[in-house]
Amino acid sequence: MAGPRYTSYPTADRFVEAFGAPEYGQWLDHRAQSPVPTPLSLYVHIPFCQSVCWYCACNKIGTRDRSRGDVYVDDLLRELALYTDRIGTGQPVSQMHWGGGTPTFLMPPALERLMQGIERAVRFTPQAERSIEVDPRSVDSADLHRLRALGFNRLSFGVQDFDPTVQQAVHRVQSTQQVFELTRAAHALAFESVNVDLIHGLPHQTPARFAQTLDTVAELRPDRIAVYGYAHLPQRFKPQRRIHEADLPSAGDKLAMMRSAIERLGAHGYVHIGLDHFALPDDALAIAQRMGVLHRNFMGYTTQPDCDMIGLGVSAIGRIGPSYGQNARMLETWQASVRAGVLPIERGCELSRDDMLRRFVIMSMMCNGTIPFAAVERDYLVSAQQVFRDELERLREFEALGLVRIDADGVTATTLGRFFVRPIAMLFDRALRSALPRGQYSRVL
Ligand code: SF4
Repeated sequence: MAGPRYTSYPTADRFVEAFGAPEYGQWLDHRAQSPVPTPLSLYVHIPFCQSVCWYCACNKIGTRDRSRGDVYVDDLLRELALYTDRIGTGQPVSQMHWGGGTPTFLMPPALERLMQGIERAVRFTPQAERSIEVDPRSVDSADLHRLRALGFNRLSFGVQDFDPTVQQAVHRVQSTQQVFELTRAAHALAFESVNVDLIHGLPHQTPARFAQTLDTVAELRPDRIAVYGYAHLPQRFKPQRRIHEADLPSAGDKLAMMRSAIERLGAHGYVHIGLDHFALPDDALAIAQRMGVLHRNFMGYTTQPDCDMIGLGVSAIGRIGPSYGQNARMLETWQASVRAGVLPIERGCELSRDDMLRRFVIMSMMCNGTIPFAAVERDYLVSAQQVFRDELERLREFEALGLVRIDADGVTATTLGRFFVRPIAMLFDRALRSALPRGQYSRVL
């Protein structure tokens, strides 16, 4: 069974080209009129990678020409100016994330120029999260020092697996020692949070080998660990064609690896946040989860309440008011648009009241494992039991399996059900019932 990861609702495959720059621009103008603007999130996409990993499903461009980063930064700053021209400079920003691709593809002067340009355009709130994805193969501790000095306070290392056979099979070879040294340096530099990404389901992985990777990563003591599931979609993602299907673990082994992640990381003191995310108990995500105030956006789980988000760079997605807008997915199209002074929005959507209600319900299940009927009634002035009569009926099957409890107060995922929040959320996704073609999703079971 496949399904969306719900970093947005409706999901990006439902965005339409009829909603483009003019429509998105109207919501920006609307925001500009707000006397007390709410803090923004900022996502910056840097698409370049010096070497392409074969499992990759990201929007990236393989190149060794690092000077392309300089030109790209010029265009990012042009794009940022298109926003500040509309909503004004000095907007508060409480969260910023640089992802890719490989943000550290940018050479130090380009990184600095981009950060300074952003700092001139917006105003970071005192506790703002500033995070960046780091490829351990391309940085050393001096680079981490520079990132800290630039103002980043969170790091995310892409590791995927420590096993050399698996690393070779996915064309991403890095030594364990390299990752240990960098993590130690990150802790010494007082980054507030260090995340490590792993992937299960890669070629040549076995439950026994992956267990070793889990034990090694736990030894590193990163604040957060993500254990993503590999989705093999070679028709859609060209690099994956180099992965031999026969080398992939069976569905049973994949399930065993995920179960092992939950058990082993739990035994090492990590809290399961949701889906494939884990955190140490004193990490902000774990605290937000305990308090029932976890949120989810294009960057994954977050402590930031629902807020407007500006997405900069090729293919980046933003969210303003009740609308989503995605940038052109081809570099040349995105570049041509920002150079012409036009927001590079290629597709998007404006949420109806029903969409917003469903977004609330889906995100509440994805983040906190509950659908509180009282909150639905308070915020949307409708009876959840009436509006979702059909969905709740279908949810009875999950109740019979011991995955949810349904009572007068709402729906609550059981401990076991917390691992199945995606299929539960999918019941409330109106788009999944439509006859329109859908994107290809990763497996939920
Ligand atoms: S996994 Fe990361 S580093 Fe590897 S090709 Fe994809 S974006 Fe680039």
